Amino acid sequence: MKTKKIYLNEGEMPTHYYNIMADMPNKPLPPLHPVTQQPLGPEDLAPLFPMELIKQEVSTERYIEIPEAVQELYRIYRPTPLIRATALEKALGTPAKIYYKYEGVSPTGSHKPNTAIPQAYYNKMEGVTKLTTETGAGQWGCALSFACQHFGIDLQVYMVKLSYQQKPYRKVLMNTFGAEVIASPSNLTDSGRQILGQTPDSPGSLGIAISEAVEVAMKNENIKYSLGSVLNHVLMHQTIIGQEALKQLEMTGDFPDMVIAPFGGGSNFAGIAFPFLHLNLTQGKKVECIAVEPTSCPKLTKGKFRYDYGDTVGMVPLLPMYTLGHDFVPPSIHAGGLRYHGAGVIVSQLLKDGLISARSVKQSECFAAGMLFAQTEGILPAPEANHAIATVIAEAKKAKETGEAKTILFNLCGHGHFDLHAYEQYLGGNLVDHELTDAEIEYALESLEKSIQMK
Ligand SMILES: *Cc1c(COP(=O)(O)O)cnc(C)c1O
Repeated sequence: MKTKKIYLNEGEMPTHYYNIMADMPNKPLPPLHPVTQQPLGPEDLAPLFPMELIKQEVSTERYIEIPEAVQELYRIYRPTPLIRATALEKALGTPAKIYYKYEGVSPTGSHKPNTAIPQAYYNKMEGVTKLTTETGAGQWGCALSFACQHFGIDLQVYMVKLSYQQKPYRKVLMNTFGAEVIASPSNLTDSGRQILGQTPDSPGSLGIAISEAVEVAMKNENIKYSLGSVLNHVLMHQTIIGQEALKQLEMTGDFPDMVIAPFGGGSNFAGIAFPFLHLNLTQGKKVECIAVEPTSCPKLTKGKFRYDYGDTVGMVPLLPMYTLGHDFVPPSIHAGGLRYHGAGVIVSQLLKDGLISARSVKQSECFAAGMLFAQTEGILPAPEANHAIATVIAEAKKAKETGEAKTILFNLCGHGHFDLHAYEQYLGGNLVDHELTDAEIEYALESLEKSIQMK
C-alpha cells in the first residue's frame, strides 16, 4: 500500500528559520532610499519595522532561532501534513510520484500565518501597540489579524476595494479577530485621496493599499507597518514549510526532482523551495525549483530586472527586482494573491543567476487543474495554488510520455473556501483569460523607464 499522509510529531517541528542569504553565490543589490537613491540604513527602516525584523532583513546568518512563544502558536496547526496525491497520480496514469505540502490547515487557511505570527511577536516584544498593513485577496489581512489578536496588538487593514466588495467574508473574518478593515483607495490618507482624485472609481491594487498603510505608519510614531510577502525576513519565516517537507520526504525514502509553487511576491515559493536550494548550493543536489505566475501578471517571465518601487505612490524603498512597473495594474483575475507588480529581491537574484526557473499559466488552465485536484484529492485549492497544480499536471503528463518516474513536490499553500465565487464563474463558463500582449508589456516597461531615472 502506498503511504498517503506523512505526519511529523510536534517535537519534530523545525526550531530555526533558514536564511538563504548565507548560501547565495551573488548577494542581492541593496535597497535604495526612494528619494536620495542612496543605500538604506537600518535607521531608514526604523519608522516602519521593529529592530529585530530589520536585523533579519539584512542578516547573512544561516539559521535564526524561532522564539518559543512563536513555536507555541505554530503548534495550533504545525507541523502540517505532507500528502501523496495518489488519486491524482492514478487519474493521470503517470509514473511520477506527486507529493504536496498542505498549508491550508492553518487557522486562516493559507501559509501566511507562518510569518504573521513572528512579525506580531517581534513588534510586541518592542512595545508596538498598533500595526497597519494591506491585503489583496484577504489572506494576509486574515493571518495578521489572527496573530495581532493573539499578542494584543491593534491592526488596521487596507483591503483592495475590488476584493473588499467581492470577498466580504474575508472582512468578517478579520473583524472577528478584532481588526479594522478599510476599502482602499480610501479618503483617510493623502495617497488614497491622490488616487481617488485621479480615478474616483479605482478598484484599488496592492501597490495603492501598500502606499496607504505605509503612510499611516510613517506619520504616527506609535504605529508600525507589516508586509506579508516580498521582503527577505518574510521569505525566511516561510522556510519552516520546506524544512518540514524535507524531513517528511526522508521518512518516505523519496527525494524530489522538482519543487513547484505559485508566485505572487515569492513567500510561499521561497518557503518550500529554499531548504532544497540549500542542498543544491551546498551539497551538489539538482532539485529543479519552479515558480509559477499568471500570464496576466508575468513579471518573472516577461518583466524587467531593475530598481523599482514596491508601492504605487513611490513611498517605499527602491528594490532591485523583476517588475512590470509600480503603476502597472494587473487585470482582475481571481488569484488576487498573485496580482503584484514585482518579485522579492532574493528570488529575483536567484532567477537572474539561473538557480531557479519560472513559468506562466493561463487562468482557465489553472481552474481546470484545480477542479481535477478537488475531484481526486478532495481538497478545493486556492486559485493561487492552482498555478502550481497546473504545472504539476503538465510535468506528470510529460513523465507519462517519457516513462520517467519523477518525484514532484508542490506547495498547496491554501484552500479555496473563500474563493467559491471564482469556481462558480469557472463552472458557469464565464471565466476569461488575460494574456498580456507584448505591446502592453513594452508600454508598461517604457513608462517605468520614464518614471524612475536612476542617478
Ligand atoms: C498570498 C498568497 C499567495 C501569493 O503570495 P506569495 O508571497 O508569493 O506566496 C499565494 N497563495 C496564497 C494562498 C496566498 O495567500
